[in-house]
Formats: sequence, C-alpha cells, structure tokens
Amino acid sequence: MWLVGYIAVHRLTLSYYDKQANPNPIPDDELTGHLIIDRFTDESGSLGAVTGYRPPYHLAVFPDGHIEQMLPLAVKGAHAKNYNWRSWGLAVIGDFRKSPPTDAQVKSLIELCRVLAIAKDGGCEIAGHTELPGSSGDPDKVCPGPHMPLGRVRSEALICDRPVAWPQDAQSIGLEL
Ligand SMILES: [Zn+2]
Repeated sequence: MWLVGYIAVHRLTLSYYDKQANPNPIPDDELTGHLIIDRFTDESGSLGAVTGYRPPYHLAVFPDGHIEQMLPLAVKGAHAKNYNWRSWGLAVIGDFRKSPPTDAQVKSLIELCRVLAIAKDGGCEIAGHTELPGSSGDPDKVCPGPHMPLGRVRSEALICDRPVAWPQDAQSIGLEL
C-alpha cells in the first residue's frame, strides 16, 4: 500500500454547483456515491474541472450514516492540494459551516476513521481539509466547517478498545482496498 499519513475530512454539497451547470440539479438529500462520481467525471460539466474529471474522494458519509466508497483506498484522490498523494479523502455530506452533521453521520465517521487510522498504527492524522496548510487554492475556504466536531472524532476514533486487524477490519465494513 502507498504511504498515507492523513485522513482529510471534507464537507460536500453539490446542489449549489449543480444549479449552475445542470437544468435538473440533484437535491442534497438525494445524493448517492454514484451521482457524485457522475458529476465529477462528466466532461461536459464544470464540476470535474477542479479534479481533472476524477472522483475526488475515497468515501462519502451520508446523513443517515451509511457509507459509500468512490475510490479504492490504493488509488490517489483529488481532494486536498499538496496532500493527495498521502491522504484519504472523506466527504461528509452537508455544509458544516452552517449546521452540524447528524448523530448517525458522526458515529459512522468515527468508526471509519478508527479503522483507517488505527490500521496505520495510529500513524495517520485525522484533519479537517483546511487544517492542512496549503491544501486549498482558496485561502478563505473553510472545510469542513466549525460545526463538524473534529476534536470528538479525533479522540473517539483513536480510542483503541480492541486490536484492529488490517485488512480484515477494513473489509468487514465493506471497504475496497
Ligand atoms: Zn474540502
């Protein structure tokens, strides 16, 4: 496996961009992993231009807590400038500049980070996207936003209440390596 040092947590809503590019924008509560991939890989759309028409994130965590994978863990994403070759990108669906994630989302995010971070022997730092210096071309960008409880995610994800087995634990929650 390639050298991953960071788990980068993002906010993601598509409706704002979608309204500009599509006559039928997808409401945020109807998003799926496949629709996210479709929008970012659509060469006639504007959204993919920022990621080189590649799926940007490895995983998405939806408001009901379910997780969908968009890239295998061994494939480089396109989500955090200067960090893509050494990070996994997790898109949490919602805008956490304005409101908090759901309890189900936080629980799933913690479990996901726990498996990913502890699998790397705790050597994988959990960071909000714009906590990573130089990770965005927009100096004013705030991602995932102040309503995302990153401190709680970090502390609870790194509590090792049982040994994590890699890759078995990753596969047990359905991750494609
Ligand atoms: Zn981001």
